[in-house]
Amino acid sequence: MKIFFNGSLVDRADAKVSVFDHGLLYGDGVFEGIRLYDGCVFKLEEHLERLEYSAKAIMLKMPISRKELAEAVCATCRANNLKNGYIRLVITRGEGSLGLSIHSCKQPNLIIIADTIQLYPAEFYEQGLKIITVPTRRINPAALPPTVKSLNYLNNILAKTEAQHLGYHEAIMLNDQGYIAECTGDNIFALHKGVLLTPPSSAGALKGITRDAVLEIAAELKVPVREVNMTRYDTWICDELFLTGTAAEVVPIVEVDARPIGNGKPGELTLRFLEVFKRIVREQGTML
Ligand code: PMP
Repeated sequence: MKIFFNGSLVDRADAKVSVFDHGLLYGDGVFEGIRLYDGCVFKLEEHLERLEYSAKAIMLKMPISRKELAEAVCATCRANNLKNGYIRLVITRGEGSLGLSIHSCKQPNLIIIADTIQLYPAEFYEQGLKIITVPTRRINPAALPPTVKSLNYLNNILAKTEAQHLGYHEAIMLNDQGYIAECTGDNIFALHKGVLLTPPSSAGALKGITRDAVLEIAAELKVPVREVNMTRYDTWICDELFLTGTAAEVVPIVEVDARPIGNGKPGELTLRFLEVFKRIVREQGTML
């Protein structure tokens, strides 16, 4: 496997960062997860824009331009003969001293990994997923904006681990006011009386690229959308519920906190969203 590492494609074994990298020492850095479908990178511009915004928010200078980065992403996929897969773009603060200061880190490390993807099993889409709300709260947006896709994922990892200990694959995370923020690695949508509801990013949600794609599909399908603070109650009584994410795409939820959603089967409109999403990933995208 070839890894793009600071400007060149190197063997996996040679792609190494220092133990003094602040990405490792403090989770100081940003990343993106992008999908490759049939030789086309889905929403590349949007992912690169979010990466730039994340970097700007933590005062990390992008080591190369957006155009160069787009080319590097495509070159990494080509070097690995990949047509379908998952691309991980990581920019760490780089090597520095043992203090927290960003000023000791002179050069960020840029890493691009293009690999095959372990998809969710088909039954998640056919039968739907059961989820729960976990006790670990989403970090307050005033402490770390959820819109920054940073290397600090411990909060989400703890929430996911709580879900796994109870036998679930995903979980709802609440913010410190008790409103729904998002799931541990996905955004959440509820359909109630024909209106699609999703938490705003101010409630602790990442501005998901798949979330945006679903908002576009909702406009196409003429489904009204409201970005509102949502409570657990809103998920218990809704007609349909689903998750969105780059890896997950659109996953129907059939149970939350032991309450069945709708008739306990994937929702009709949810499946329609999934169908349209699967269509647009084939129609749109940057060719390698
Ligand atoms: N929320 C979190 C915390 C995430 O890590 C992700 C990405 N896996 C998402 C939401 C979904 O975002 P996207 O659609 O851009 O993958």
